[in-house]
Amino acid sequence: MSQSFCPACQLPLLWQLGGYYCAHCQNKFVKEAFCEDCGHLLERLNACGADNYFCPHCNVLKSKSRARITFRIAAADSQKNSGNPSSSA
Ligand SMILES: [Zn+2]
Ligand SMILES: [Zn+2]
Repeated sequence: MSQSFCPACQLPLLWQLGGYYCAHCQNKFVKEAFCEDCGHLLERLNACGADNYFCPHCNVLKSKSRARITFRIAAADSQKNSGNPSSSA
C-alpha cells in the first residue's frame, strides 16, 4: 500500500474517518485525481479492490499511472454557515 504525503509539510498523511489527515498541519485533505491527458477531474472506480479511474471527458478508463494524484485541503469547519456556499476562490 502506498503512503500518501501532506503537500504542505511532506509528512505522511493519516487515513481517518474516510479522509486524509495531517497531524502536523491539522488539516484534512481530499484525494483528487486528474487526467494526465486533458486535466479533467477523474472519477474513481473501485473494482475488485483495485483503483481505476474514469475520465468523463476522454470517456475512457485511466490506469493509476495516467492519473495525476493531488491532495486538496478539505474545508474543515465550513459546515457552520450552511447558507454560505463555498465560492471563495
Ligand atoms: Zn502537513
Ligand atoms: Zn481525460
